[in-house]
Amino acid sequence: MSLSENIKDFGLDLGYSKVGITTADSFPSYIEDLKGRYDMYAWYIEGPSQPIKGADPRSVMPSAKSIIVVVYDYSKESFPEKLVGKIGRLYQARCSLTPRSRINGARRQLMREFLENKGCEVAQRLVVPDRLSGARAGIVTYGKNTFTFADGIGSFILMTAFIVDAELDYDEPTMGEECPPKCMACIDACPTGALYEPLKMNPLRCITYNCFMTQDGLPAGTTSYIPPDIRDKMGSWIHGCDICQEVCPRNQKRLKAKLPPNEFLVKVAEDFELIKLLNLTNEFYAKTVQPLMYNYIREKKYFQRNAAIALGNTGDPEFIPDLARAMMDSEELVRGYAAWALGKIGGGRAMEILEVSLARETSELARKEIEAALAVA
Ligand code: SF4
Ligand code: SF4
Repeated sequence: MSLSENIKDFGLDLGYSKVGITTADSFPSYIEDLKGRYDMYAWYIEGPSQPIKGADPRSVMPSAKSIIVVVYDYSKESFPEKLVGKIGRLYQARCSLTPRSRINGARRQLMREFLENKGCEVAQRLVVPDRLSGARAGIVTYGKNTFTFADGIGSFILMTAFIVDAELDYDEPTMGEECPPKCMACIDACPTGALYEPLKMNPLRCITYNCFMTQDGLPAGTTSYIPPDIRDKMGSWIHGCDICQEVCPRNQKRLKAKLPPNEFLVKVAEDFELIKLLNLTNEFYAKTVQPLMYNYIREKKYFQRNAAIALGNTGDPEFIPDLARAMMDSEELVRGYAAWALGKIGGGRAMEILEVSLARETSELARKEIEAALAVA
């Protein structure tokens, strides 16, 4: 059996649904596209992933010869109703950036160790464009929503790429976009206009980006500020957004299938409430938030901000007491976004709370939000 076949068998045995292999040649169109849309992607280009270098693997690892791409299907089990529409399925599935101490990180580590035991040098921190690598390795095709789709699964997949120094047998690329020609359902459904044309998405308008890349101190001057027109469109999403995948006909078979539950997820979901996320205790954070949303948001205040937005978007006065409590939070960010939510819900009680809060508020950020909320409440 060749090394390539051996690698593919091992990947499938580990639970990956597809394994493909391509060369470690660069991805010039990706580099050009990223540079051409620098205003949208500065946070990513300047961030720790260094995608421009990753798109030319040999610039970082001169010995690189091949990219092995594995597909993990994270939609084999059902997702609890209580979490759908709030947390993206990818995060509920705990398969993205998972530490080695948990099952999906351990699976990735086993694959790496297998390659090393076969004598391959495996790149350590090289982030190649995984969707493009997967298409060039013949295991996925593109959709107009910019996601990639695996045959028999759909787009609820995670791809991981391993860059190695071994010469392997390469698969036939499947670079095309394979949507029904007239379908534009994803672009029509995107609430923020982030998907602005087939295969083009502006991350700065994407709900997923706004849920967790808006944190102070990230590269390229990124801050915690979420523009009000995006807040309005975030609905109940607090960590990710699946809308452009949920509406997709290529995903309907899987979305409508009767799937078994994941018992861990069922248990976590039992306790999940947006009001608990807003007025976040250490216990709720450890027991319910971190097991699912461990990978991007580093400080509790960003979860609280997102919960405030989601509660404001319900428009439901039932949440006014919880938002009033959040107006006393020690974090100005939480007070500011709770004020926005009160303004969104509006009415006399919300106005009163905002006025009382303004009288004692000393933070400029929170004061601005309260004043803006009072103008619309
Ligand atoms: S994830 Fe949501 S906000 Fe982002 S492009 Fe898709 S539908 Fe639009
Ligand atoms: S919704 Fe339609 S256009 Fe968008 S990715 Fe799915 S099939 Fe393609």
